[in-house]
Amino acid sequence: MINIATRIDPAIASAVSETITQLHGRHLIGNALVPAVAGATLEVLDPATGAVLGEAPAATTDDVARAVDAASAAFPGWAATPSRQRGKLLAEAARAIAAKSGALAAVLALETGKAIRTECRGEIATAIDIVTMYAGLASELKGETLPFDPQILTYTSREPLGVVAAILPWNVPLVLMMLKIAPALVAGNTVVVKASEEAPFATIEMARLMAELLPAGVLNVICGTGRDCGSALVEHPAVAKVTFTGSQAVGELIYQTAARKIIPVSLELGGKSPMIVYPDADMARVVAGAIAGMRFTRQGQSCTAASRIYVHNTLIDAFVAALRDAVAKLVIGDPLDEATDIGTVISQRQKAKIESYLALGERTAGAQVARCGELPRAGHLKDGLFLQPTIVTGLPEDSPLMREEIFGPVVCVQPWDDEDDVIARANDSDFGLAATVWTHDLRTALRAVQRLDAGYVQVNQNLTIQPNLSYGGFRKSGLGKEASLEAMLEHFTKKKTVVIDMR
Ligand code: NAD
Repeated sequence: MINIATRIDPAIASAVSETITQLHGRHLIGNALVPAVAGATLEVLDPATGAVLGEAPAATTDDVARAVDAASAAFPGWAATPSRQRGKLLAEAARAIAAKSGALAAVLALETGKAIRTECRGEIATAIDIVTMYAGLASELKGETLPFDPQILTYTSREPLGVVAAILPWNVPLVLMMLKIAPALVAGNTVVVKASEEAPFATIEMARLMAELLPAGVLNVICGTGRDCGSALVEHPAVAKVTFTGSQAVGELIYQTAARKIIPVSLELGGKSPMIVYPDADMARVVAGAIAGMRFTRQGQSCTAASRIYVHNTLIDAFVAALRDAVAKLVIGDPLDEATDIGTVISQRQKAKIESYLALGERTAGAQVARCGELPRAGHLKDGLFLQPTIVTGLPEDSPLMREEIFGPVVCVQPWDDEDDVIARANDSDFGLAATVWTHDLRTALRAVQRLDAGYVQVNQNLTIQPNLSYGGFRKSGLGKEASLEAMLEHFTKKKTVVIDMR
């Protein structure tokens, strides 16, 4: 375990150290922290320093079986627990997380490289908000009575599916976990989470705090590689549903396995979201919205990132200049430092991938690649995976930088002058997750909203996922919705139709 006492408040440093030591090589199964059956572990690195942060367990099929067995054994009791009682327990779990949020935010910042002030505390607050919302929706697991025949009582009921597998990426692990486990648990399912092997500790610790209040086996978290742990979990015959956030390639594999097993899946696979700026837009708001939308403080590691910005010809030069100035003021530094706006990307692999896109941009005739801001100079950060926020202009529309999800701090800005053309360009993407429109003319805004083919469309703002607003993409951005009542009812229950002859 590395020494972080010089980087953060000593009391938090010692709580973090205790947490990571306690989690060393351990899954959460049946409310106990248990080592992997084969005893293997995976190194988890601190991307700001390159130091080894700790060891996560490396699951094999034996660990998967153990976790699914625990969840299967807990299912009948949990499904039979009144839904409002389940909701009450989850509301208590929300309070338990809040009580430990200081150390949890530091663990998250250390393993993901995301800045504690701009990202990690807010992520925990959102996770708490989501579980609190679902706890309050426990009474909404209602059926319907159906008009059929006065002598025949006909109704529907909502029933849990069984054991749900929730597979997570590293970018926003706590919010993405909560979007899956809170509706699944309130609806009466039991869960096995597969944590990201790159950022497992905050995930396991948050689940551990919750599981202390739940019957054993209701919530389990295992960790390992996608090949040995993730795929074995999806394949397990007792897994009745898979909910996944991550890459399109893995989403396709999971969908194929689910098709063979004939089980439902929810997939959240990323995006290349357009932001369309009209000539009447308010420049200061648009610049702030672009920084927020591009998730620069998360190094652009967001599926919703507004990574294609189309700015009207009349504004584009002023916009690019203002965006450069504003982005250059963001402080890149130690994720644990309160002064830091932007931390690191997650891994050397991701950094190399992002840099290969930038090199391609630099080789593209007519394109300009502007890297903004200062990289940190502090000695302990010399091996950190820092990147400057980067603005790319002058790209051809079919450039890979315009079409593929870079998942880094790289925004492409393009001009437009014809509305039909810009809407067509915005929609011409494999993805259809989100889009934003920037104008103060109501008719223009509504016309654009109607024509944009994306699952989450906003006008004059660029918010992240919000509890109670259904979130999910069109086309290759995925299948299904998250964050809402609809998500719980449609994706974590099955509907039974009951027909009773009363004669
Ligand atoms: P990934 O899809 O490889 O991994 C996500 C999760 O799936 C991890 O827990 C991983 O272990 C697991 N997994 C991998 N192979 C699996 C398999 N065959 N069966 C079951 N589970 C498996 O994503 P990544 O490596 O973390 O990131 C790669 C790319 O994915 C990123 O560059 C980005 O484009 C995209 N991504 C998207 C999101 C999003 O929010 N939509 C989040 C993270 C990553």
